[in-house]
Amino acid sequence: MEALARLSQGGLRIGKVSSLYRTEPWGRGDQPWFTNLAVEADTHLSPRALLALCQRVERDLGRMDRGRWGPRELDIDILLYGGEVIDEPDLIVPHPQLPERRFALVPLAEIAPEVRHPVLGRAIAELLAEVRDSRRVLRLKGITS
Ligand code: AMP
Repeated sequence: MEALARLSQGGLRIGKVSSLYRTEPWGRGDQPWFTNLAVEADTHLSPRALLALCQRVERDLGRMDRGRWGPRELDIDILLYGGEVIDEPDLIVPHPQLPERRFALVPLAEIAPEVRHPVLGRAIAELLAEVRDSRRVLRLKGITS
């Protein structure tokens, strides 16, 4: 995955990587499904520097994808940053939609089921068990398989 390579170059030491998942979009059924995965990484980057790196990779690869393959979006979100809680206009951690998105919780629960959401105090596996989002999230394959 080109995005992971670029995040590594930018200062992340990538740890666990979830399987790839095909995930059902909201709304009209004729939209293409998304592909999602979750990654654990160590970094010396601050949350804000990490956000800037994610946005740079989104921009660079988004542009490349559009040129080569037609319209395509890349979205990189910071779901958790250790146990930190950040609430600023352009950076909210844990990610505010994490508890209500199966497409984020399923891959995250694969690599970090026991990790606790620092605001809700619940493990990721518990949040997944309770989520009301019924969009389908289908495991595709391990990234190395
Ligand atoms: P989106 O288009 O949904 O990826 O939203 C991108 C915007 O969300 C960016 O301008 C970020 O400043 C903001 N944002 C707030 N919190 C986060 C987060 N935890 N991870 C990524 N983007 C975030």
